[in-house]
Amino acid sequence: MPNNSRILISGASIAGPALAYWLRRNGFQPTVIERAPAPRTGGNGVDIRGESVRIAGLMGILPRIRERATDIRALTFVDAANHRVAGMPNSTFNAADDIEIMRGDLAEVLYEATADDVDYRFGDSIHSLVQRQGAVEVAFDSGRTAEFDLVVGADGLHSRVRNLAITPEADALHHLGLYFALGQVDPEHGRPGEVALYNTPGKVAGVYRSAAHDIATGFFMLREPRVLDIDYRDQDAQKALLRGYFETESWQVPELLAQATSDPGFYLDAVSQVRIPRWSAGRVTLVGDAGYCATLLSGAGAALALEGAHRLATELTAADGDHRIAFDRYEAGLRPTVAKRQRSVHAGSAMLVPASRPGIWLRNQLTRLLLLQPLAAKVFQPTPAAAA
Ligand SMILES: Cc1cc2nc3c(=O)[nH]c(=O)nc-3n(C[C@H](O)[C@H](O)[C@H](O)COP(=O)(O)OP(=O)(O)OC[C@H]3O[C@@H](n4cnc5c(N)ncnc54)[C@H](O)[C@@H]3O)c2cc1C
Repeated sequence: MPNNSRILISGASIAGPALAYWLRRNGFQPTVIERAPAPRTGGNGVDIRGESVRIAGLMGILPRIRERATDIRALTFVDAANHRVAGMPNSTFNAADDIEIMRGDLAEVLYEATADDVDYRFGDSIHSLVQRQGAVEVAFDSGRTAEFDLVVGADGLHSRVRNLAITPEADALHHLGLYFALGQVDPEHGRPGEVALYNTPGKVAGVYRSAAHDIATGFFMLREPRVLDIDYRDQDAQKALLRGYFETESWQVPELLAQATSDPGFYLDAVSQVRIPRWSAGRVTLVGDAGYCATLLSGAGAALALEGAHRLATELTAADGDHRIAFDRYEAGLRPTVAKRQRSVHAGSAMLVPASRPGIWLRNQLTRLLLLQPLAAKVFQPTPAAAA
Protein backbone atom coordinates (compact mmCIF):
# COMPACT_ATOMS: atom_id res chain seq x y z
CA MET A 1 0.00 0.00 0.00
CA PRO A 2 1.41 3.48 -0.85
CA ASN A 3 2.14 6.08 1.83
CA ASN A 4 -0.65 8.51 2.70
CA SER A 5 -3.23 6.07 1.41
CA ARG A 6 -6.25 7.20 3.48
CA ILE A 7 -7.65 9.94 1.27
CA LEU A 8 -10.89 11.83 1.85
CA ILE A 9 -12.51 13.31 -1.25
CA SER A 10 -15.29 15.88 -0.81
CA GLY A 11 -17.80 15.86 -3.72
CA ALA A 12 -19.28 13.05 -5.81
CA SER A 13 -20.01 14.67 -9.17
CA ILE A 14 -17.35 14.28 -11.88
CA ALA A 15 -13.93 15.06 -10.39
CA GLY A 16 -14.53 13.21 -7.09
CA PRO A 17 -15.55 9.77 -8.42
CA ALA A 18 -12.95 9.99 -11.21
CA LEU A 19 -10.22 10.63 -8.65
CA ALA A 20 -11.56 7.84 -6.43
CA TYR A 21 -11.39 5.46 -9.39
CA TRP A 22 -7.72 6.15 -10.07
CA LEU A 23 -6.70 6.18 -6.43
CA ARG A 24 -8.39 2.86 -5.78
CA ARG A 25 -6.82 1.34 -8.86
CA ASN A 26 -3.38 2.42 -7.60
CA GLY A 27 -3.79 0.95 -4.13
CA PHE A 28 -5.02 3.98 -2.16
CA GLN A 29 -8.10 3.92 0.07
CA PRO A 30 -10.38 6.79 -0.96
CA THR A 31 -13.51 7.78 0.93
CA VAL A 32 -15.94 10.08 -0.89
CA ILE A 33 -18.26 12.36 1.02
CA GLU A 34 -21.12 14.12 -0.78
CA ARG A 35 -23.49 16.65 0.67
CA ALA A 36 -26.46 15.54 -1.47
CA PRO A 37 -28.34 12.41 -0.34
CA ALA A 38 -27.48 10.58 -3.62
CA PRO A 39 -25.47 11.33 -6.80
CA ARG A 40 -26.96 14.53 -8.19
CA THR A 41 -28.85 14.36 -11.44
CA GLY A 42 -29.29 17.31 -13.74
CA GLY A 43 -27.29 19.50 -16.04
CA ASN A 44 -27.08 19.91 -19.77
CA GLY A 45 -24.65 18.11 -22.02
CA VAL A 46 -20.97 18.33 -21.09
CA ASP A 47 -18.12 17.53 -23.45
CA ILE A 48 -15.54 14.82 -23.19
CA ARG A 49 -12.82 15.62 -25.65
CA GLY A 50 -9.12 15.27 -26.36
CA GLU A 51 -7.15 13.87 -23.44
CA SER A 52 -10.29 13.15 -21.42
CA VAL A 53 -11.54 10.72 -24.10
CA ARG A 54 -8.28 8.82 -23.73
CA ILE A 55 -8.65 8.82 -19.93
CA ALA A 56 -12.26 7.58 -20.10
CA GLY A 57 -10.95 4.82 -22.40
CA LEU A 58 -8.33 3.81 -19.83
CA MET A 59 -11.06 3.71 -17.19
CA GLY A 60 -13.09 1.33 -19.33
CA ILE A 61 -16.15 3.60 -19.22
CA LEU A 62 -16.06 4.77 -22.82
CA PRO A 63 -18.68 2.22 -24.02
CA ARG A 64 -21.08 3.34 -21.25
CA ILE A 65 -20.44 6.98 -22.10
CA ARG A 66 -21.04 6.39 -25.80
CA GLU A 67 -24.25 4.47 -25.04
CA ARG A 68 -25.58 7.43 -23.12
CA ALA A 69 -24.17 10.17 -25.37
CA THR A 70 -26.50 12.95 -26.40
CA ASP A 71 -27.55 13.51 -29.98
CA ILE A 72 -27.52 17.25 -30.55
CA ARG A 73 -27.36 18.36 -34.17
CA ALA A 74 -27.88 22.10 -34.10
CA LEU A 75 -27.90 25.28 -32.09
CA THR A 76 -30.81 27.45 -33.16
CA PHE A 77 -31.60 31.06 -32.28
CA VAL A 78 -35.37 31.67 -32.28
CA ASP A 79 -37.65 34.69 -32.01
CA ALA A 80 -40.64 35.17 -29.71
CA ALA A 81 -42.88 33.32 -32.21
CA ASN A 82 -40.48 30.35 -32.09
CA HIS A 83 -39.29 30.92 -35.67
CA ARG A 84 -35.67 30.13 -36.44
CA VAL A 85 -33.72 33.34 -37.04
CA ALA A 86 -30.22 31.87 -37.30
CA GLY A 87 -28.30 28.80 -36.23
CA MET A 88 -25.25 26.60 -36.45
CA PRO A 89 -24.70 22.89 -36.80
CA ASN A 90 -23.38 21.20 -33.69
CA SER A 91 -20.22 20.25 -35.59
CA THR A 92 -19.20 23.90 -35.13
CA PHE A 93 -18.64 23.22 -31.43
CA ASN A 94 -17.58 19.62 -31.41
CA ALA A 95 -14.86 17.72 -33.24
CA ALA A 96 -15.72 14.29 -34.62
CA ASP A 97 -14.27 12.37 -31.68
CA ASP A 98 -15.76 14.59 -28.94
CA ILE A 99 -18.52 12.99 -26.92
CA GLU A 100 -21.32 14.98 -25.36
CA ILE A 101 -23.17 13.44 -22.42
CA MET A 102 -25.68 14.82 -19.93
CA ARG A 103 -23.78 15.83 -16.80
CA GLY A 104 -26.02 13.70 -14.59
CA ASP A 105 -25.43 10.66 -16.82
CA LEU A 106 -21.67 11.12 -16.63
CA ALA A 107 -21.84 11.42 -12.84
CA GLU A 108 -23.86 8.20 -12.74
CA VAL A 109 -21.45 6.31 -15.01
CA LEU A 110 -18.53 7.36 -12.80
CA TYR A 111 -20.39 6.44 -9.64
CA GLU A 112 -21.31 3.02 -11.04
CA ALA A 113 -17.68 2.41 -12.01
CA THR A 114 -16.53 3.02 -8.43
CA ALA A 115 -19.44 2.20 -6.11
CA ASP A 116 -18.37 -1.40 -5.46
CA ASP A 117 -14.95 -0.63 -4.05
CA VAL A 118 -15.03 2.97 -2.90
CA ASP A 119 -16.53 4.04 0.42
CA TYR A 120 -19.21 6.64 -0.48
CA ARG A 121 -20.99 8.62 2.22
CA PHE A 122 -23.92 10.69 1.05
CA GLY A 123 -25.78 13.35 2.99
CA ASP A 124 -22.78 14.62 4.91
CA SER A 125 -20.13 17.26 4.54
CA ILE A 126 -16.82 18.33 6.02
CA HIS A 127 -17.46 20.77 8.84
CA SER A 128 -13.88 21.53 9.80
CA LEU A 129 -10.41 20.19 9.23
CA VAL A 130 -7.20 20.55 11.17
CA GLN A 131 -3.85 19.65 9.67
CA ARG A 132 -1.50 18.03 12.15
CA GLN A 133 1.90 16.50 11.68
CA GLY A 134 1.26 13.47 9.48
CA ALA A 135 -2.54 13.62 9.22
CA VAL A 136 -5.68 15.70 8.83
CA GLU A 137 -8.38 15.56 11.48
CA VAL A 138 -11.80 16.00 9.97
CA ALA A 139 -15.08 16.79 11.70
CA PHE A 140 -18.24 16.25 9.68
CA ASP A 141 -21.59 18.07 9.80
CA SER A 142 -23.09 14.81 11.07
CA GLY A 143 -20.94 15.09 14.19
CA ARG A 144 -18.65 12.22 13.21
CA THR A 145 -14.87 12.75 13.31
CA ALA A 146 -12.13 10.84 11.49
CA GLU A 147 -8.47 11.09 10.57
CA PHE A 148 -7.15 10.99 7.00
CA ASP A 149 -3.70 11.26 5.46
CA LEU A 150 -4.82 13.64 2.70
CA VAL A 151 -8.00 15.57 1.85
CA VAL A 152 -9.08 16.55 -1.66
CA GLY A 153 -11.79 19.09 -2.42
CA ALA A 154 -13.81 18.01 -5.47
CA ASP A 155 -16.73 20.00 -4.18
CA GLY A 156 -17.20 22.43 -7.03
CA LEU A 157 -17.30 26.18 -7.43
CA HIS A 158 -18.22 26.92 -3.79
CA SER A 159 -15.80 24.33 -2.40
CA ARG A 160 -15.88 24.14 1.37
CA VAL A 161 -12.49 22.44 1.40
CA ARG A 162 -10.99 25.38 -0.48
CA ASN A 163 -12.61 27.78 1.93
CA LEU A 164 -11.45 25.92 5.01
CA ALA A 165 -7.91 25.09 3.99
CA ILE A 166 -6.72 27.17 1.06
CA THR A 167 -8.39 30.49 0.15
CA PRO A 168 -11.59 32.28 1.17
CA GLU A 169 -14.24 32.18 -1.56
CA ALA A 170 -14.21 35.95 -2.08
CA ASP A 171 -10.54 35.76 -3.14
CA ALA A 172 -10.95 32.63 -5.26
CA LEU A 173 -13.94 33.45 -7.48
CA HIS A 174 -13.76 35.75 -10.49
CA HIS A 175 -17.30 36.55 -11.49
CA LEU A 176 -17.79 36.69 -15.25
CA GLY A 177 -20.96 38.78 -14.90
CA LEU A 178 -23.43 35.98 -15.69
CA TYR A 179 -25.73 33.56 -13.85
CA PHE A 180 -26.91 30.21 -15.16
CA ALA A 181 -29.87 28.06 -14.13
CA LEU A 182 -31.59 24.95 -15.38
CA GLY A 183 -34.18 22.30 -14.64
CA GLN A 184 -36.04 19.55 -16.47
CA VAL A 185 -38.98 20.57 -18.63
CA ASP A 186 -41.55 18.81 -20.78
CA PRO A 187 -39.64 17.50 -23.86
CA GLU A 188 -42.44 18.84 -26.07
CA HIS A 189 -40.94 22.30 -25.60
CA GLY A 190 -37.89 21.33 -27.64
CA ARG A 191 -37.21 19.84 -31.05
CA PRO A 192 -35.25 16.56 -30.90
CA GLY A 193 -31.57 17.12 -31.63
CA GLU A 194 -31.68 20.86 -31.07
CA VAL A 195 -30.60 23.45 -28.55
CA ALA A 196 -33.01 26.37 -29.03
CA LEU A 197 -32.14 29.80 -27.64
CA TYR A 198 -34.34 32.86 -27.24
CA ASN A 199 -32.52 36.10 -26.49
CA THR A 200 -33.55 39.44 -25.07
CA PRO A 201 -30.88 41.98 -24.10
CA GLY A 202 -28.65 40.45 -21.47
CA LYS A 203 -30.74 37.28 -21.14
CA VAL A 204 -31.19 33.97 -22.86
CA ALA A 205 -33.68 31.20 -22.21
CA GLY A 206 -33.37 27.89 -24.00
CA VAL A 207 -34.35 24.28 -24.37
CA TYR A 208 -31.78 21.51 -24.64
CA ARG A 209 -33.32 18.42 -26.23
CA SER A 210 -31.11 15.52 -27.22
CA ALA A 211 -32.61 13.29 -29.91
CA ALA A 212 -31.30 10.28 -27.98
CA HIS A 213 -33.17 11.17 -24.78
CA ASP A 214 -36.81 11.56 -23.91
CA ILE A 215 -36.13 14.41 -21.50
CA ALA A 216 -35.38 18.08 -22.08
CA THR A 217 -33.77 20.81 -20.02
CA GLY A 218 -34.93 24.38 -19.78
CA PHE A 219 -32.02 26.70 -19.13
CA PHE A 220 -31.52 30.38 -18.44
CA MET A 221 -28.56 32.69 -18.49
CA LEU A 222 -28.51 36.34 -17.54
CA ARG A 223 -26.03 39.16 -17.37
CA GLU A 224 -25.68 40.44 -13.83
CA PRO A 225 -22.37 42.08 -13.05
CA ARG A 226 -23.04 42.14 -9.31
CA VAL A 227 -22.02 39.24 -7.11
CA LEU A 228 -25.41 38.40 -5.66
CA ASP A 229 -25.68 37.21 -2.10
CA ILE A 230 -27.07 33.75 -2.84
CA ASP A 231 -27.47 30.93 -0.34
CA TYR A 232 -26.51 27.95 -2.52
CA ARG A 233 -28.35 25.58 -0.19
CA ASP A 234 -31.62 27.48 -0.40
CA GLN A 235 -33.30 26.38 -3.64
CA ASP A 236 -36.47 28.38 -2.95
CA ALA A 237 -34.50 31.60 -2.79
CA GLN A 238 -32.66 30.70 -6.01
CA LYS A 239 -35.93 29.98 -7.80
CA ALA A 240 -37.44 33.28 -6.63
CA LEU A 241 -34.34 35.06 -7.91
CA LEU A 242 -34.62 33.47 -11.34
CA ARG A 243 -38.34 34.23 -11.58
CA GLY A 244 -37.62 37.86 -10.78
CA TYR A 245 -35.39 38.13 -13.84
CA PHE A 246 -37.40 36.06 -16.33
CA GLU A 247 -41.12 36.08 -15.47
CA THR A 248 -42.01 38.90 -17.84
CA GLU A 249 -40.30 37.35 -20.89
CA SER A 250 -42.26 35.91 -23.81
CA TRP A 251 -41.57 32.87 -26.13
CA GLN A 252 -42.01 29.74 -23.99
CA VAL A 253 -40.33 31.35 -21.03
CA PRO A 254 -43.27 31.30 -18.56
CA GLU A 255 -43.81 27.53 -19.07
CA LEU A 256 -40.09 26.76 -19.00
CA LEU A 257 -39.68 28.81 -15.84
CA ALA A 258 -42.61 27.11 -14.10
CA GLN A 259 -41.40 23.63 -15.02
CA ALA A 260 -37.68 24.11 -14.43
CA THR A 261 -38.33 25.61 -11.00
CA SER A 262 -40.54 22.62 -10.09
CA ASP A 263 -37.73 20.16 -10.80
CA PRO A 264 -36.11 18.89 -7.57
CA GLY A 265 -32.81 18.84 -9.53
CA PHE A 266 -33.10 22.60 -10.24
CA TYR A 267 -29.65 24.19 -10.39
CA LEU A 268 -28.55 27.81 -10.31
CA ASP A 269 -25.07 29.21 -10.04
CA ALA A 270 -22.90 32.18 -10.86
CA VAL A 271 -20.73 31.87 -13.93
CA SER A 272 -17.45 32.42 -12.11
CA GLN A 273 -13.96 31.11 -12.56
CA VAL A 274 -11.73 29.87 -9.78
CA ARG A 275 -8.32 31.47 -10.05
CA ILE A 276 -6.02 30.90 -7.09
CA PRO A 277 -2.25 31.02 -6.83
CA ARG A 278 -1.94 27.55 -5.22
CA TRP A 279 -4.28 24.58 -5.44
CA SER A 280 -2.78 22.93 -2.38
CA ALA A 281 -1.93 23.73 1.22
CA GLY A 282 -0.13 21.09 3.21
CA ARG A 283 -2.06 17.82 3.01
CA VAL A 284 -5.05 19.34 1.25
CA THR A 285 -5.54 19.87 -2.48
CA LEU A 286 -8.31 20.56 -5.00
CA VAL A 287 -9.49 18.91 -8.19
CA GLY A 288 -12.01 19.98 -10.86
CA ASP A 289 -14.14 23.10 -10.48
CA ALA A 290 -13.11 23.52 -6.84
CA GLY A 291 -9.55 24.30 -7.91
CA TYR A 292 -9.82 25.71 -11.41
CA CYS A 293 -13.39 26.13 -12.65
CA ALA A 294 -13.31 27.48 -16.19
CA THR A 295 -17.16 27.73 -16.37
CA LEU A 296 -19.64 26.22 -18.78
CA LEU A 297 -18.61 28.87 -21.32
CA SER A 298 -15.32 27.04 -21.75
CA GLY A 299 -17.02 23.76 -22.66
CA ALA A 300 -14.21 22.16 -20.68
CA GLY A 301 -15.43 21.63 -17.09
CA ALA A 302 -15.93 17.87 -17.27
CA ALA A 303 -12.81 17.33 -19.37
CA LEU A 304 -10.66 19.30 -16.91
CA ALA A 305 -12.17 17.34 -14.02
CA LEU A 306 -11.34 13.99 -15.64
CA GLU A 307 -7.89 15.14 -16.64
CA GLY A 308 -7.14 16.67 -13.25
CA ALA A 309 -8.29 13.56 -11.38
CA HIS A 310 -6.13 11.31 -13.53
CA ARG A 311 -3.10 13.54 -13.24
CA LEU A 312 -3.37 13.94 -9.47
CA ALA A 313 -3.69 10.18 -8.91
CA THR A 314 -0.83 9.48 -11.33
CA GLU A 315 1.47 11.90 -9.50
CA LEU A 316 0.54 10.53 -6.08
CA THR A 317 1.28 7.04 -7.32
CA ALA A 318 4.58 8.02 -8.92
CA ALA A 319 5.66 9.75 -5.68
CA ASP A 320 4.56 6.78 -3.57
CA GLY A 321 2.05 8.98 -1.78
CA ASP A 322 4.46 11.85 -1.04
CA HIS A 323 1.97 14.69 -1.30
CA ARG A 324 4.57 17.48 -1.41
CA ILE A 325 6.11 16.12 -4.59
CA ALA A 326 2.83 14.94 -6.10
CA PHE A 327 0.82 18.14 -5.50
CA ASP A 328 3.59 20.27 -7.04
CA ARG A 329 3.85 18.09 -10.14
CA TYR A 330 0.08 17.86 -10.52
CA GLU A 331 -0.24 21.62 -10.45
CA ALA A 332 2.74 22.31 -12.72
CA GLY A 333 1.48 19.78 -15.25
CA LEU A 334 -2.13 20.94 -15.41
CA ARG A 335 -1.90 24.71 -15.04
CA PRO A 336 -1.10 25.49 -18.70
CA THR A 337 -4.22 23.61 -19.87
CA VAL A 338 -6.38 25.33 -17.28
CA ALA A 339 -5.04 28.76 -18.22
CA LYS A 340 -5.88 28.21 -21.89
CA ARG A 341 -9.40 27.01 -21.14
CA GLN A 342 -10.03 29.88 -18.74
CA ARG A 343 -8.93 32.42 -21.35
CA SER A 344 -11.33 31.12 -23.99
CA VAL A 345 -14.63 32.09 -22.38
CA HIS A 346 -15.36 35.68 -23.35
CA ALA A 347 -16.30 35.08 -26.97
CA GLY A 348 -18.74 32.41 -25.78
CA SER A 349 -20.63 34.82 -23.54
CA ALA A 350 -20.83 37.48 -26.28
CA MET A 351 -22.30 34.88 -28.63
CA LEU A 352 -24.78 33.29 -26.24
CA VAL A 353 -25.92 36.34 -24.29
CA PRO A 354 -25.50 39.58 -26.28
CA ALA A 355 -26.05 42.54 -23.97
CA SER A 356 -28.19 44.69 -26.30
CA ARG A 357 -30.70 44.47 -29.16
CA PRO A 358 -28.10 45.60 -31.73
CA GLY A 359 -25.82 42.92 -30.29
CA ILE A 360 -28.46 40.22 -30.80
CA TRP A 361 -29.10 41.47 -34.35
CA LEU A 362 -25.39 41.49 -35.15
CA ARG A 363 -24.90 38.00 -33.70
CA ASN A 364 -27.75 36.70 -35.85
CA GLN A 365 -26.43 38.41 -39.00
CA LEU A 366 -22.92 37.09 -38.47
CA THR A 367 -24.33 33.62 -37.90
CA ARG A 368 -26.39 33.76 -41.09
CA LEU A 369 -23.37 34.92 -43.07
CA LEU A 370 -21.39 32.03 -41.56
CA LEU A 371 -18.92 34.49 -40.05
CA LEU A 372 -19.40 33.47 -36.44
CA GLN A 373 -18.80 29.77 -36.92
CA PRO A 374 -15.01 29.90 -37.25
CA LEU A 375 -14.82 31.89 -34.01
CA ALA A 376 -17.18 29.49 -32.21
CA ALA A 377 -15.14 26.56 -33.48
CA LYS A 378 -11.95 28.16 -32.21
CA VAL A 379 -13.44 28.84 -28.77
CA PHE A 380 -15.11 25.50 -28.22
CA GLN A 381 -12.82 23.10 -30.07
CA PRO A 382 -9.35 23.37 -28.64
CA THR A 383 -6.73 21.96 -30.94
CA PRO A 384 -4.82 19.02 -29.47
CA ALA A 385 -1.88 21.38 -28.95
CA ALA A 386 -4.06 23.89 -27.07
CA ALA A 387 -5.48 21.13 -24.91
CA ALA A 388 -2.09 19.62 -24.09
C1 LIG B 1 -26.38 19.75 -10.56
C2 LIG B 1 -25.29 20.28 -11.45
C3 LIG B 1 -25.60 20.69 -12.75
C4 LIG B 1 -24.60 21.17 -13.59
N1 LIG B 1 -24.92 21.55 -14.87
C5 LIG B 1 -23.95 21.92 -15.72
C6 LIG B 1 -24.23 22.23 -17.09
O1 LIG B 1 -25.37 22.17 -17.52
N2 LIG B 1 -23.21 22.58 -17.91
C7 LIG B 1 -21.92 22.64 -17.45
O2 LIG B 1 -21.03 22.94 -18.23
N3 LIG B 1 -21.62 22.37 -16.18
C8 LIG B 1 -22.59 22.00 -15.30
N4 LIG B 1 -22.27 21.73 -13.99
C9 LIG B 1 -20.86 21.87 -13.55
C10 LIG B 1 -20.04 20.70 -14.03
O3 LIG B 1 -20.47 19.49 -13.45
C11 LIG B 1 -18.58 20.95 -13.68
O4 LIG B 1 -18.15 22.15 -14.31
C12 LIG B 1 -17.58 19.90 -14.16
O5 LIG B 1 -18.16 18.72 -14.56
C13 LIG B 1 -16.54 19.62 -13.05
O6 LIG B 1 -17.17 18.86 -12.05
P1 LIG B 1 -16.72 18.84 -10.54
O7 LIG B 1 -16.96 17.44 -10.09
O8 LIG B 1 -15.39 19.43 -10.36
O9 LIG B 1 -17.74 19.85 -9.81
P2 LIG B 1 -19.32 19.82 -9.69
O10 LIG B 1 -19.94 19.13 -10.82
O11 LIG B 1 -19.76 21.21 -9.40
O12 LIG B 1 -19.59 18.91 -8.40
C14 LIG B 1 -19.32 19.28 -7.08
C15 LIG B 1 -19.97 18.23 -6.17
O13 LIG B 1 -19.63 18.53 -4.83
C16 LIG B 1 -20.78 18.48 -4.03
N5 LIG B 1 -20.58 19.39 -2.90
C17 LIG B 1 -20.64 20.73 -2.88
N6 LIG B 1 -20.37 21.19 -1.68
C18 LIG B 1 -20.13 20.12 -0.89
C19 LIG B 1 -19.79 19.96 0.47
N7 LIG B 1 -19.65 21.03 1.29
N8 LIG B 1 -19.61 18.71 0.96
C20 LIG B 1 -19.75 17.62 0.14
N9 LIG B 1 -20.09 17.72 -1.16
C21 LIG B 1 -20.26 18.96 -1.66
C22 LIG B 1 -21.91 18.90 -4.96
O14 LIG B 1 -23.18 18.46 -4.49
C23 LIG B 1 -21.50 18.21 -6.25
O15 LIG B 1 -21.97 16.90 -6.30
C24 LIG B 1 -23.25 21.25 -13.11
C25 LIG B 1 -22.94 20.86 -11.80
C26 LIG B 1 -23.94 20.36 -10.97
C27 LIG B 1 -23.58 19.94 -9.55
